[in-house]
Amino acid sequence: MGKSPFSRCSRCGGNMVQEIFFGPTEQFTGLKCVICGEVIDPVILQNRELMRAGHVLLLPKERGAAAEYIHA
Ligand SMILES: [Zn+2]
Repeated sequence: MGKSPFSRCSRCGGNMVQEIFFGPTEQFTGLKCVICGEVIDPVILQNRELMRAGHVLLLPKERGAAAEYIHA
């Protein structure tokens, strides 16, 4: 208990439990609120960190276009 900084739900403050989720290509460990069912996975956390740091997230398509532009 209290091992993770993300052990509290950001919506209701309830306890989060670690759960294995199965994505389209891989499985990952996320956190799920036992009270309201809010799910936090590593990708969401990473995106939040990037947004907080002021980074712009690029879609794969946009990255490809940018790379093409650089090569041209
Ligand atoms: Zn909750």
